[in-house]
Amino acid sequence: MSTFIFNELNFDNHEQVVFVSEEKSGLRGIIAVHNTNLGPAMGGCRMWDYASEAVAVNDVLRLSRGMTYKNAVAGLPIGGGKSVIIGNPKTAKTPALFEAMGEALERLGGRYITAEDVGTSPADMAHIAAKTKYVAGLGASGDPSPFTALGCFVGAQAAVKHYLGRDSLEGLTVAVQGLGNVGYDYARRLHAAGAKLVVTDIDQAALERARVEFGAEVVATDAIYDVQADIYAPCALGATLNPAALEWARTTYPQIDLVADTAALITSDIDVYAPCALGGALDDDTVQALSAKIVAGAANNQLAHPGIEKSLAERGILYAPDYVVNAGGVIQVADEIEGFNFERAKLRATGIFETTKRILALADEEGVSPAVAADRLAEQRMAEVGRLRAIYLG
Ligand code: NAD
Repeated sequence: MSTFIFNELNFDNHEQVVFVSEEKSGLRGIIAVHNTNLGPAMGGCRMWDYASEAVAVNDVLRLSRGMTYKNAVAGLPIGGGKSVIIGNPKTAKTPALFEAMGEALERLGGRYITAEDVGTSPADMAHIAAKTKYVAGLGASGDPSPFTALGCFVGAQAAVKHYLGRDSLEGLTVAVQGLGNVGYDYARRLHAAGAKLVVTDIDQAALERARVEFGAEVVATDAIYDVQADIYAPCALGATLNPAALEWARTTYPQIDLVADTAALITSDIDVYAPCALGGALDDDTVQALSAKIVAGAANNQLAHPGIEKSLAERGILYAPDYVVNAGGVIQVADEIEGFNFERAKLRATGIFETTKRILALADEEGVSPAVAADRLAEQRMAEVGRLRAIYLG
């Protein structure tokens, strides 16, 4: 028998995958409910101009599974799901499109709750809300980035305590890649904690702000691996090389020493790295080049492929798993379900310190990487609570 969904790379016993379409609005979307053992599935609605339907299917399967693990480790009473709308978010958005999506969510009766994601905004969520109550991220609790930054910061503190035996980040050098919504706020916290900052971004204005406000050393996008830092904080959109930005950095900051090759990177001495851009910041070359002792950043899917976590361990680099430390945003948005309470959400986001500590200790005890330990903790929670609750029926 030939199969389409069931043998997809990212299919992982998803409870339900729903294809939604509406002729009038032109909606073509997919909703994936991965697991509801802990409660209704929750995860954002992504709008993207996918190259093919197969790519969209794989994306929603992968992302919804990721949400199950992220929500479980964060201790939230929600499961994992995600939805995608196929279309160009810059040109194909209409209120009717999102209303049709809202109707589709309503038909699922609360088994999946959506929120904003890449390509969608609180305004789009408001159109969804016209047709269903199963939507969060309407902006009621504000921009989730500061809570994400808070989670990254306490996650980095836990990693530093665990690996370097230090209670404070004072005097450590942190390399932040990407000074966007999360990266900038994370950098602000690091600066306030007495860390020395080395930052990179392809956005010149963000760099200039960080240089003035934090006294940060500014380096070109590919030189971030080559600095003396204690923590590497990748917070950008992927470790891609932008020739225009490099040229700009070369002329604006002639003191920048651009590295010639990977061999030069490997010899450098970074302490903590915080990737805060897009995914894939840690690939084979980067890991070999990276001299940080710790990675703790906001970017999703930092490991470019399976096995990278082993390479990091072999190089003696402690990886604070991305979905553990960057859960502050989802913690905030999930709190909207109960009626947003700032102090409760902040307390939960601060709990990322304890969660990270627990995962790093578990990794040591079981002789596995922190990434594997995080997955195990999530699975353990789903098994324990899931025995009592099983599938959420809405
Ligand atoms: P953002 O778009 O505001 O910031 C990304 C920054 O990275 C921008 O300043 C951009 O110029 C910079 N950048 C892009 N390419 C770069 C490169 N090659 N080198 C250096 N810098 C580069 O995004 P954000 O909301 O700050 O999110 C950052 C990351 O964290 C993303 O991976 C996102 O998925 C993840 N994340 C965000 C949240 C949240 O609450 N916003 C929650 C969880 C995870």
